[in-house]
Amino acid sequence: MRWSSAFIPTLRDDPADAEAVSHKLLVRAGFIRQLMAGHYSMTPLGLRSLRKLEAIVREEMEKIGGQEFRLPCMHPREIWEKSGRWDSVGEEMFRLQDRREADLVLGMTHEEIFAYHSTELRSYKSLPQIWFQFQSKFRDEARPKSGLLRVREFTMKDSYSFDLDASGLDTAFDRHFDAYRRMFKRFGFEIVAVEASSGVMGGKTSVEFMLKSDAGEDWVAACDQCGYAANVEKAESILAEVKDAEGPAEPEKFPTPGVKTIEDLALMEGGTAAERQIKTLVYQVDDKSVLVLLRGDHKLAEQKLIDQVEAKGMRPAEPGEIKKLLGALPGSLGAVARGDLFVIADLALQGRRDMVTGANEDGFHLRGVDLDRDIDVKGWLDLREVADGEGCPMCKQPISVHKTIEVGHIFKLGTKYSEAMGASVQDEKGVSVPLVMGSYGIGLERNMAAVVEANHDEKGICWPVNVAPYEVVVTVIKPKDVDCHEAGERLYEKLSEAGIDVIIDDRDERPGVKFKDADLVGFPYRVTVGPKGLDEGIFEFVRRRDGQKRDLPIEHAAGTIVEAVLDDRS
Ligand SMILES: [Zn+2]
Repeated sequence: MRWSSAFIPTLRDDPADAEAVSHKLLVRAGFIRQLMAGHYSMTPLGLRSLRKLEAIVREEMEKIGGQEFRLPCMHPREIWEKSGRWDSVGEEMFRLQDRREADLVLGMTHEEIFAYHSTELRSYKSLPQIWFQFQSKFRDEARPKSGLLRVREFTMKDSYSFDLDASGLDTAFDRHFDAYRRMFKRFGFEIVAVEASSGVMGGKTSVEFMLKSDAGEDWVAACDQCGYAANVEKAESILAEVKDAEGPAEPEKFPTPGVKTIEDLALMEGGTAAERQIKTLVYQVDDKSVLVLLRGDHKLAEQKLIDQVEAKGMRPAEPGEIKKLLGALPGSLGAVARGDLFVIADLALQGRRDMVTGANEDGFHLRGVDLDRDIDVKGWLDLREVADGEGCPMCKQPISVHKTIEVGHIFKLGTKYSEAMGASVQDEKGVSVPLVMGSYGIGLERNMAAVVEANHDEKGICWPVNVAPYEVVVTVIKPKDVDCHEAGERLYEKLSEAGIDVIIDDRDERPGVKFKDADLVGFPYRVTVGPKGLDEGIFEFVRRRDGQKRDLPIEHAAGTIVEAVLDDRS
């Protein structure tokens, strides 16, 4: 490719609305353009990188026996009704009607459709199967942002495994796990694999692959010592033991004028430290009010509550509802002597004494509260969100909590979708059994952004060779100088012939502009062909990721460059 005739729309400034580094750089370096919020066009440069990501994913899927399909992205309502997700999935699913007023869905995932096709499997003899596709997916995000990280339209590789039993599913899941690890390594970043909450997918076990990044929106707790890692929606930790004084024989009411928060109470004169307070939250679980108690300095992990309390719907109660139920507003709430209400409490409160909580009277609290004696707790659950520095549940060493980007997610689905679609096979004894399914997703654009989040510096992107739009740029300093032009062209041809993805910067621009653009776009290697070097018989060879420079004698240059690129490919 010749830069002079290529469409590479680099920009000097960051897009105004961009926060994530990948968003800024992919726009500035000319890889993507926004059509509308959450919908991006790939430029030719962007598509080259995306295709390389896709090729790596395809290779790894074929290595584990995956067979490629292509399913429609528009689906009939009926098939989503069968699984129950026409109702259970909310506004994030795009729905539309055709001219006959038939309801249609733009697929956000394809469990239903693959399960539907799996009804053609008849016998255990045809198992196991792994089916996959690359397809556009649609998700009506409330707030699309961060460039390619949170979009409404994206390309996903989704695969589905079909097995006779749970052990077959375990094998398919493990093979995907290994394949995913290999994909991320080849993309050029390290991930942590974490247990996750399955949310809307309804499976029993799921693993998320997370890249540490400030641009992320998921919090992960991880232990460097033993490798324990989990999404904070699920993570557990060990707390330092607390010894409480016995306290008074019964709770004592005391005035706390103006105290509205845990912090207010900790800071007031004669106040109580947050870890000796009981935080009282009120949730509406279906039609029932539930009091949720936590230690004052602990945060509720709402997903843990959702995962453990079987309910159709759950939301925090409104102030009006709370006042009606407890007689006070948030700030003075408590569960003492409210055996009539359903109270659940976090395990960290078990056995605690001499604690402080709201008196259910605005401006008053109770001290000397003994959990076992004074509060009728109906259920003790792990409800709190783990915090940085708490003990690892496996090895007790301090864990760290950091922001991450989810770059892949794999699920053990079981038989939910196969039962809904009537997908079953005859086992060895001739008994009809539902197929046991797994589902495995990876978004291409999001991973492209993740590559950039993990591989950039202040000058621009540093693409790993495996996913670079071009592996080498030949920068001709004076394209109008006949010797320069010819030396550049000869090198360009040699590299092309050797199968290297090479672009020649033959633009009539100042060298400074060319170097800046090359660094911004982020080609892994740059070869500079200039009059001074030609006089000395050398080309300058620069590695983008660390700036390492070498002078290559012209006659061996092509060979050395090819070797360097091939060494980096994996
Ligand atoms: Zn550990």
